[in-house]
Amino acid sequence: MKYIDFRSDTSTTPTKEMRAAIFEAELGNDGYHEDPTVNKLEEKVALLLGKESALLIPSGTMGNLITLMVYCKRGDEVILEASSHILVGEKGGICSIAQAMPIPIEGINGVLTAEQIKKKLHYNSNNEEIQTGLICLENTHNRAGGVIFPISNIKAICELAHSYKIPVYLDGARIFNAAVALNIDIKEIVKPVDSIMFCLSKGLACPVGSMLVGTHDFIKIARQYRRILGGRMRQAGIIAAAGIVALEHMIDRLQIDHENALKLGEELGKLSYIQIDLNTVQTNIVRFKVLNQKIGARELVRILENQGILIDYSIEENFRMVTHKDIESRDVMKVINCFKKIEKHLKHK
Ligand SMILES: *Cc1c(COP(=O)(O)O)cnc(C)c1O
Repeated sequence: MKYIDFRSDTSTTPTKEMRAAIFEAELGNDGYHEDPTVNKLEEKVALLLGKESALLIPSGTMGNLITLMVYCKRGDEVILEASSHILVGEKGGICSIAQAMPIPIEGINGVLTAEQIKKKLHYNSNNEEIQTGLICLENTHNRAGGVIFPISNIKAICELAHSYKIPVYLDGARIFNAAVALNIDIKEIVKPVDSIMFCLSKGLACPVGSMLVGTHDFIKIARQYRRILGGRMRQAGIIAAAGIVALEHMIDRLQIDHENALKLGEELGKLSYIQIDLNTVQTNIVRFKVLNQKIGARELVRILENQGILIDYSIEENFRMVTHKDIESRDVMKVINCFKKIEKHLKHK
């Protein structure tokens, strides 16, 4: 059976154009900076985001880790949102490998304010040395359901941070979803922050790869940490070729994923056994809870699986569905019909 896979936008497979570009890619040894396709992608990304330099990395998780290692000395405090991917989705690398000290703040749907952060800035007793090494923001916020971090908040937080010479990093795994949803140039979002990571491998549909973006100095050191972490690659033009296609052809279409997610969210919201906050359905992620005692999380997932539909759930019985290029509007209709049938079934139970 061919499954409709709503578990994640990392399930996307590369397009025909990507496969052709990979096949044709000019290659060299990226360990010596000699892969022309990697160099082209890195230049293209820096230009697109309006920053000095960019670096191809194997994964978003490695990008987050590299950034923590570049900015933080051992024991430095890192202010981040309490349900941020760095804190809850990366197996504690922030502590075990970067040896930084997470200072979590609970946001509203993943969004933090400058006022909240100000209270957590930390000086040592003689008020000379600041112990806050870095502030991390997440846009869009994964656990909150693809919520967009408002630009005004980013600006205010960066202004505060920079007045204390603290860098601000954006975990922008899905930053293009935010740019498309807001219908603004990506440069506007990333202008105030010092560095950014985004994933090629999610909604942009590449098979693998993420990008780290920032100043020349930042990327120079990031390159060293990439090597330490085993992320230095060789004929990586194989990966970069798909990335170039993604930046040229896969950004604008994210709008379709957002429309599908909204349709899905609205229809789920009409069902009595589902609890969903439609305010959080801003991009390509739909999160909801099941209220009915008659159906457990596992059972719901199993029923859908039997219908050829895969969805994601966590132990706390939070469900997540992600739309992406391999999901069409008729797939959304199919899953909505399944959920409706389950509601009928529950009424007769
Ligand atoms: C997916 C994700 C990452 C990690 O990216 P990988 O390429 O899967 O390692 C980091 N941050 C956020 C917000 C994500 O959604």
